[in-house]
Amino acid sequence: LERTLIIIKPDAIKRELIGEILLRFENAGLHVLAMKMVQVSKRDAEKFYAEHAGKSFFEKLTTLLSSTPIIPVVLSGENAIAHVRKIMGATNPVDAEEGTIRHDLALDGTQNSVHGSDSPDSAAREIAFFFNTLEIF
Ligand code: ATP
Ligand code: MG
Repeated sequence: LERTLIIIKPDAIKRELIGEILLRFENAGLHVLAMKMVQVSKRDAEKFYAEHAGKSFFEKLTTLLSSTPIIPVVLSGENAIAHVRKIMGATNPVDAEEGTIRHDLALDGTQNSVHGSDSPDSAAREIAFFFNTLEIF
Protein backbone atom coordinates (compact mmCIF):
# COMPACT_ATOMS: atom_id res chain seq x y z
CA LEU A 1 0.00 0.00 0.00
CA GLU A 2 1.14 3.50 -0.82
CA ARG A 3 0.69 6.72 1.16
CA THR A 4 -0.03 10.18 -0.15
CA LEU A 5 -0.87 13.60 1.26
CA ILE A 6 -3.89 15.60 0.28
CA ILE A 7 -4.85 19.06 1.48
CA ILE A 8 -8.42 20.29 1.60
CA LYS A 9 -7.76 23.89 0.55
CA PRO A 10 -9.33 27.09 1.96
CA ASP A 11 -11.88 27.53 -0.83
CA ALA A 12 -13.34 24.08 -0.10
CA ILE A 13 -13.41 24.55 3.68
CA LYS A 14 -15.14 27.94 3.31
CA ARG A 15 -17.84 26.30 1.19
CA GLU A 16 -18.35 23.42 3.69
CA LEU A 17 -17.06 20.75 1.33
CA ILE A 18 -14.89 18.84 3.85
CA GLY A 19 -17.28 15.90 4.17
CA GLU A 20 -18.00 15.78 0.44
CA ILE A 21 -14.30 15.62 -0.42
CA LEU A 22 -13.41 13.01 2.22
CA LEU A 23 -16.41 10.91 1.15
CA ARG A 24 -15.17 10.80 -2.44
CA PHE A 25 -11.77 9.46 -1.34
CA GLU A 26 -13.28 6.98 1.15
CA ASN A 27 -15.80 5.75 -1.41
CA ALA A 28 -12.88 5.13 -3.80
CA GLY A 29 -11.32 2.77 -1.24
CA LEU A 30 -8.69 5.09 0.23
CA HIS A 31 -8.10 5.00 3.98
CA VAL A 32 -7.51 8.00 6.26
CA LEU A 33 -4.32 7.49 8.31
CA ALA A 34 -3.98 11.03 9.69
CA MET A 35 -5.87 14.31 9.57
CA LYS A 36 -5.90 17.74 11.25
CA MET A 37 -6.95 21.35 10.74
CA VAL A 38 -4.09 23.86 10.73
CA GLN A 39 -3.36 27.37 9.56
CA VAL A 40 0.08 27.77 7.98
CA SER A 41 2.08 31.00 7.76
CA LYS A 42 2.91 32.59 4.40
CA ARG A 43 6.50 31.42 4.94
CA ASP A 44 5.36 27.81 5.55
CA ALA A 45 3.18 27.94 2.43
CA GLU A 46 6.19 29.15 0.42
CA LYS A 47 8.26 26.27 1.83
CA PHE A 48 5.55 23.71 1.09
CA TYR A 49 5.20 24.88 -2.53
CA ALA A 50 8.94 25.63 -3.01
CA GLU A 51 8.97 23.79 -6.37
CA HIS A 52 6.75 26.57 -7.76
CA ALA A 53 8.87 29.50 -6.50
CA GLY A 54 9.33 32.07 -9.26
CA LYS A 55 6.23 31.03 -11.22
CA SER A 56 3.58 33.60 -12.10
CA PHE A 57 0.99 32.09 -9.73
CA PHE A 58 3.33 31.56 -6.73
CA GLU A 59 2.24 34.66 -4.80
CA LYS A 60 -1.46 33.97 -5.33
CA LEU A 61 -1.06 30.29 -4.45
CA THR A 62 0.89 30.82 -1.22
CA THR A 63 -1.38 33.70 -0.13
CA LEU A 64 -4.40 31.47 -0.65
CA LEU A 65 -2.92 28.49 1.19
CA SER A 66 -2.07 30.62 4.24
CA SER A 67 -5.29 32.69 4.22
CA THR A 68 -7.52 30.47 6.41
CA PRO A 69 -7.26 26.98 7.93
CA ILE A 70 -6.53 23.94 5.76
CA ILE A 71 -6.90 20.21 6.36
CA PRO A 72 -3.91 18.02 5.49
CA VAL A 73 -4.84 14.32 5.33
CA VAL A 74 -2.66 11.21 4.87
CA LEU A 75 -4.39 8.66 2.65
CA SER A 76 -3.36 5.06 2.08
CA GLY A 77 -4.29 2.66 -0.71
CA GLU A 78 -3.21 0.74 -3.79
CA ASN A 79 -1.32 3.21 -6.04
CA ALA A 80 -2.65 5.97 -3.78
CA ILE A 81 -0.65 8.79 -5.39
CA ALA A 82 -1.93 8.21 -8.92
CA HIS A 83 -5.38 7.13 -7.72
CA VAL A 84 -5.84 10.34 -5.71
CA ARG A 85 -4.71 12.53 -8.61
CA LYS A 86 -7.26 10.80 -10.86
CA ILE A 87 -10.04 11.47 -8.33
CA MET A 88 -8.93 15.13 -8.04
CA GLY A 89 -8.79 15.76 -11.79
CA ALA A 90 -6.71 18.26 -13.76
CA THR A 91 -5.28 21.33 -12.02
CA ASN A 92 -7.71 23.73 -13.72
CA PRO A 93 -11.39 22.74 -13.32
CA VAL A 94 -12.14 23.70 -16.94
CA ASP A 95 -9.75 20.93 -18.03
CA ALA A 96 -10.87 18.38 -15.41
CA GLU A 97 -12.98 15.38 -16.33
CA GLU A 98 -16.59 15.20 -15.22
CA GLY A 99 -16.96 13.43 -11.89
CA THR A 100 -13.59 14.59 -10.57
CA ILE A 101 -13.39 16.78 -7.46
CA ARG A 102 -11.98 19.74 -9.34
CA HIS A 103 -14.49 19.54 -12.19
CA ASP A 104 -17.41 19.24 -9.81
CA LEU A 105 -16.32 21.53 -6.96
CA ALA A 106 -13.33 23.78 -7.75
CA LEU A 107 -13.72 27.53 -8.35
CA ASP A 108 -10.78 28.18 -10.70
CA GLY A 109 -7.19 27.19 -11.50
CA THR A 110 -5.84 28.41 -8.17
CA GLN A 111 -8.81 27.83 -5.85
CA ASN A 112 -9.06 24.22 -6.91
CA SER A 113 -10.24 22.73 -3.60
CA VAL A 114 -7.60 20.01 -3.13
CA HIS A 115 -3.90 19.32 -3.31
CA GLY A 116 -2.42 15.88 -3.88
CA SER A 117 1.23 14.71 -3.82
CA ASP A 118 2.63 14.01 -7.29
CA SER A 119 5.39 11.41 -6.60
CA PRO A 120 6.66 9.08 -3.85
CA ASP A 121 9.37 11.62 -2.95
CA SER A 122 6.93 14.51 -2.70
CA ALA A 123 4.47 12.34 -0.73
CA ALA A 124 7.16 11.50 1.83
CA ARG A 125 8.25 15.14 2.10
CA GLU A 126 4.69 16.49 2.31
CA ILE A 127 3.54 13.92 4.90
CA ALA A 128 6.54 14.79 7.10
CA PHE A 129 5.80 18.50 6.60
CA PHE A 130 2.50 18.17 8.50
CA PHE A 131 2.70 15.01 10.64
CA ASN A 132 5.14 13.24 12.93
CA THR A 133 5.16 9.43 13.04
CA LEU A 134 3.03 9.33 16.22
CA GLU A 135 0.21 11.14 14.41
CA ILE A 136 -0.07 8.63 11.54
CA PHE A 137 -2.19 5.54 12.08
P1 ATP B 1 -1.46 20.36 -6.41
O1 ATP B 1 0.06 20.39 -6.35
O2 ATP B 1 -2.11 21.45 -5.59
O3 ATP B 1 -2.03 19.00 -6.15
P2 ATP B 1 -1.30 20.15 -9.24
O4 ATP B 1 -0.19 19.19 -8.99
O5 ATP B 1 -2.45 19.74 -10.11
O6 ATP B 1 -1.92 20.67 -7.91
P3 ATP B 1 0.71 22.15 -9.62
O7 ATP B 1 1.27 22.43 -10.97
O8 ATP B 1 1.54 21.38 -8.66
O9 ATP B 1 -0.73 21.47 -9.83
O10 ATP B 1 0.31 23.55 -8.99
C1 ATP B 1 0.10 23.69 -7.61
C2 ATP B 1 -1.08 24.58 -7.38
O11 ATP B 1 -0.77 25.90 -7.89
C3 ATP B 1 -2.35 24.20 -8.11
O12 ATP B 1 -3.12 23.24 -7.43
C4 ATP B 1 -3.07 25.52 -8.21
O13 ATP B 1 -3.69 25.85 -6.96
C5 ATP B 1 -1.94 26.48 -8.46
N1 ATP B 1 -1.69 26.68 -9.89
C6 ATP B 1 -1.03 25.83 -10.72
N2 ATP B 1 -0.97 26.31 -11.96
C7 ATP B 1 -1.61 27.51 -11.93
C8 ATP B 1 -1.88 28.52 -12.91
N3 ATP B 1 -1.47 28.40 -14.17
N4 ATP B 1 -2.57 29.61 -12.52
C9 ATP B 1 -2.97 29.75 -11.24
N5 ATP B 1 -2.73 28.87 -10.26
C10 ATP B 1 -2.07 27.74 -10.60
MG1 MG C 1 1.42 19.60 -7.66
